[in-house]
Amino acid sequence: MDFQDYQGVWVFIEEKDGAVASVSLELLGAGRKLADKRGVELAGVIIGEHIKHLSKTIFEYGADIAYVYDDPIFKNYRTESYMKALLDCSAKHKPEIILYGATSTGKDLASAVATDLPTGLTADTTELDVEEATGLLLASRPAFGGNIMATILCKKYRPQMATVRAKVMKALPPEPGREGRIVEESILLREEDIRTKVLEIVKETTKKVRIDEADIIVAGGKGLGSAEGFQLVHQLAETLGGAVGASRDVVEAGWIEHAHQIGQTGVTVTPKIYIALGISGAIQHIVGMKNSGLIIAINNDPEAPIFESCHYGIVGDAFEIVPMLIEQLSEVMS
Ligand code: FAD
Repeated sequence: MDFQDYQGVWVFIEEKDGAVASVSLELLGAGRKLADKRGVELAGVIIGEHIKHLSKTIFEYGADIAYVYDDPIFKNYRTESYMKALLDCSAKHKPEIILYGATSTGKDLASAVATDLPTGLTADTTELDVEEATGLLLASRPAFGGNIMATILCKKYRPQMATVRAKVMKALPPEPGREGRIVEESILLREEDIRTKVLEIVKETTKKVRIDEADIIVAGGKGLGSAEGFQLVHQLAETLGGAVGASRDVVEAGWIEHAHQIGQTGVTVTPKIYIALGISGAIQHIVGMKNSGLIIAINNDPEAPIFESCHYGIVGDAFEIVPMLIEQLSEVMS
């Protein structure tokens, strides 16, 4: 493998409701910095149906090139079809680095591509840089229970690949009118060659606020005692118009689904306000919420580690404090 043949930084672009997903915009911001350091171009790979218009957005957010696979076969995300498109693009244009959002689609696609190429993949990266002397991608992420940061290098294969969690990197301010080059790509794929069939798409009907987009999150821990006790979290979140988060122990107890888990093995969140009820503050939880704007903790143990990571701490029983809080807030907010 001649590394000289591999050039350029790529971002796999995800689409959401007809627009570029925010995680992809954030990755374009991170990718732009890497590309500038390497003195190369930044490209976005857009796969889907009727998605060419997304090129305009990615140029405004820093991309120089858009590789576009626009075909009805890509209407819905399927591992095989998207993987084949990305492998085709990679074989033709040989990128040095590919970044994906650590979303369910990004994680699925990146691992499939990594296996087929084959190359390395650093999952859930929180920092990205390139080593000046070698040009190697430095992909860092918390390791050993969040106690150290590990910087992972892919020395023997190309492209170097990483998934990055949403809200960790910053999108650049858009530059309206910034232009780039659209490269229309195609690949011969027949429906019968793809084993997965999308029979129906059932949209989530819940009106609840999504945890990764919420400005206010109320999160609950094992200290709430039971699934019934955990309803307190839902009540406060509803009063504030916020989303519900949870510690891993709560998810393991089956009080709420994994999608609500915050932390190292859950979601990373950066709301404006984060309220923790009955959460001890284990490092694996803290890494997922420490960048929140204002952190408020309610815990009956004055020695609980969460008090070292919060802006305001209330020592007391959540079952006494929260109902009073809800009552007062309901009056103010009604
Ligand atoms: P506990 O640690 O049991 O804390 C309960 C707290 O509630 C205590 O501080 C107690 O004082 C307080 N309390 C009790 N009663 C009340 C009351 N009436 N009012 C107010 N406070 C009360 N954890 C995560 O959260 N997210 C992760 O992504 C994650 N990933 C992990 C990955 C690995 C590899 C490992 C090893 C662990 C991971 N964990 C994760 C688990 C983590 O280490 C902790 O075990 C977990 O966060 C503890 O959850 P908790 O705070 O709800 O429970």
